[in-house]
Amino acid sequence: MSSLLFSDLIDVFLRLEETRSRNEMTDILVDLYEITPSSDVGIVSYLVLGQIDADYKDVKLGLGDKMVAESLSIASSRSKKEIQEMYREEGDLGTVAEKVSSSTKNLNQFLDEEKDLLVQEVYQGLKDISSFEGDGSHDRKIRRLAGLITQASGDGARFLTRIALGKLRLGVGAMTLLDALAKTYSGSDENRPEVEHAYNISSDIGLVAEKLSKNGLKGLNQIDVEVGRPIRMMLAQRLEKLEDIKDKIEGRFAAEVKYDGERMQIHKSGDNIQIFSRRLEDITNQYPDVVRSIRRSVGSEDVIIEGEAVATKDGELQDFQTLMQRKRKYDVEQYVEKIPVKLFLFDMLYKNKSLLNQPFSVRRKKLQQTIQTKDKLELSKLTTTQEISEVESFFQQAVDRGQEGIMLKSCGEDSVYRAGARDWQWIKWKKDYQTSMSDTVDLTVIGGFAGKGRRSGLYGTLLCAAYNKEKDIYQTVCKVGTGFTDQDLEQLPNLLQPHKTKRKPARVESDITPDQWIQPNIVVEILGAELTKSPVHTAARNKKDKKGIAIRFPRYIKLRQDKGPTDSTTTQELKQMYKKQKNN
Ligand code: AMP
Repeated sequence: MSSLLFSDLIDVFLRLEETRSRNEMTDILVDLYEITPSSDVGIVSYLVLGQIDADYKDVKLGLGDKMVAESLSIASSRSKKEIQEMYREEGDLGTVAEKVSSSTKNLNQFLDEEKDLLVQEVYQGLKDISSFEGDGSHDRKIRRLAGLITQASGDGARFLTRIALGKLRLGVGAMTLLDALAKTYSGSDENRPEVEHAYNISSDIGLVAEKLSKNGLKGLNQIDVEVGRPIRMMLAQRLEKLEDIKDKIEGRFAAEVKYDGERMQIHKSGDNIQIFSRRLEDITNQYPDVVRSIRRSVGSEDVIIEGEAVATKDGELQDFQTLMQRKRKYDVEQYVEKIPVKLFLFDMLYKNKSLLNQPFSVRRKKLQQTIQTKDKLELSKLTTTQEISEVESFFQQAVDRGQEGIMLKSCGEDSVYRAGARDWQWIKWKKDYQTSMSDTVDLTVIGGFAGKGRRSGLYGTLLCAAYNKEKDIYQTVCKVGTGFTDQDLEQLPNLLQPHKTKRKPARVESDITPDQWIQPNIVVEILGAELTKSPVHTAARNKKDKKGIAIRFPRYIKLRQDKGPTDSTTTQELKQMYKKQKNN
C-alpha cells in the first residue's frame, strides 16, 4: 500500500476521542503505527498532534474561521450565509463540516464520485495551503481546503476542518506519542528513554518516528544535534534548604546568579542566527539587537549557546515584566532603544560539534573562549565551591542586588547537558518570600469565571492547574482572583480568547466547572500562603482520602509568556513541596 487511507486515520481519531486514559491512548496509537507504512509515519505523528510539521517550525496554515466557512460553503454548495448560520448554532465549524459533508456525501456516492482519500494527499493539501503566499493566496487557500473537504467523509470533514483551524485537540501529547513509538518500533517500553532522548535533542517528533520506523533503535543514531533545530532545554529542580545541596550534588558545584528574564537558545550557523525561546518558538525577530551582538562577538564558528536576556535601564537590571514589553510584532527597533537588554550567557551546547555529553565545566570553558563579552553580552556571574558558607554569601549578594536567587550546577564528570530534563544536576534556590510557601509556582490556566461588580465583563477568577508529567494531563490546584492589576484584568480576555473552548479540554482533570473552559496554553506565576489538602482539587490526588494538593490564598504574580503548559510546576513537584512544608 502506498499510503495510509485517511479514513483509517479517522477511525483512530474517533477511538482517541473516546478515551482520557494515557495507557489506552498509547495502545490505540500502537495500533495506528502498526498499520501505517514507513513513508507515512512522520506525517501521521504530526497529524495526530494537529500539526503538519515540527512544533518549532511554527508552520501556519493562515486560515481563520471566516476562510474555513467559505471553504465549507464551496465544498457543500451552500450559501455562505447558510454556513455562518449553522456555525452560530453549533459554535464549532468542525461540526458544521461534518453535517454538510454527510448530506453532500449521499449525492457524491450516488454519482459514484467518492474516492479513497489518502493521508499523503491530505498532508500535501495542508502543506500547499501553508505555502500559498501573496496575491490570490487567500482564495487559493480557501479553494484548496474546499477540495479536500469535498473528498472527506462526515467525521473526516470534521477532523480536517479542526486541523485546518489548528484546533484538533485529541488530547494526545508528544510524551504519549513517544510511549507508542517506543512500544511499536523498539519492541519494549524499556527503550523509552532512548526514544525520548532523540526527541529532546531534535524537538521533532516526525523525524524520530520516521527514523525509528525505518531502522528501529539504530535509526535513532542518525539523529544528532543540528544548528537550527532547537534542543529541549535543561531545567532545574528546586531546593528549599541550602544544606540539602550536599545530598543532591557530590563534590564541587558552581553557583551562578539566577537572572529574571527570558531564556534564549541561540543557534548560529555562519551568518545565520536564530533565537529560540523556552517554548522553542523562534523569537529571532523580536531581538535584532541580540542578533547583531552575537554576530559581532562570535567568530566564524557554528555554535549553540544559552543565556538569559534581561531588560536594563540606565545600567540597572529590570524585572521580567519590563522585558515582556519587547514581545511585539511591530515597532521592534523602537523598542530595542526603549527597552535595551543584556544577555547573560551561561551554557554552550555546540561548537562545530555537539557538546551535550561534555561536563558543565568543559562547556563553560568553551563558552568563555568563544564569546567576546562586549556590548550586550556578558557571562553569567559564577563561583565554584564546595562550601555552603560561600554559597550563602554569594546568594546574599545576588539578592541584595535585586536578583531572584541563584542556580547551583553540578561540576562532576556526569554533569552533561540533559536536554528536556529537570533533575538534580541543576538546582534553583530563590529568595524566601516570607510565607510558609517559600517559592512561587507556575500554573496553567484551564478555565475562567466571569467577574462581578467592578470586574463585570472581565474575568474575575482563573482556574489554574499543575502538570501531571506521568499522566501527561493537567490537574487543578487553585482558583486565583487576587493580585491582578487593572491592566492585567483588561488584558486577560484577549489573551485567553484564542484558547476558549466549549467543553472541558481533553487533557484536563477538574471537578470544578468554570464559566469558560480554556485549552492549556497560558502559564501564570502564583504565590500562596501555603499548600493544603483539598477534596475539591485534583492535583496529586491521594487515592485513599481522595484529596488533592491545593494552594491557600493564591495570589497572581505575573504572566509567564516564556513558559508553555508542560513547563508548569508538576504535581510531582507539588508533592515534594508539600512534604517539605510539613517537615519544616
Ligand atoms: P524556573 O523558571 O524558576 O524553573 O528557573 C529556571 C530558569 O532560570 C531557566 O529556565 C532560565 O530561564 C533561568 N535562569 C536564570 N539565570 C540562569 C542561569 N545562570 N543558569 C540557568 N538558568 C538561568
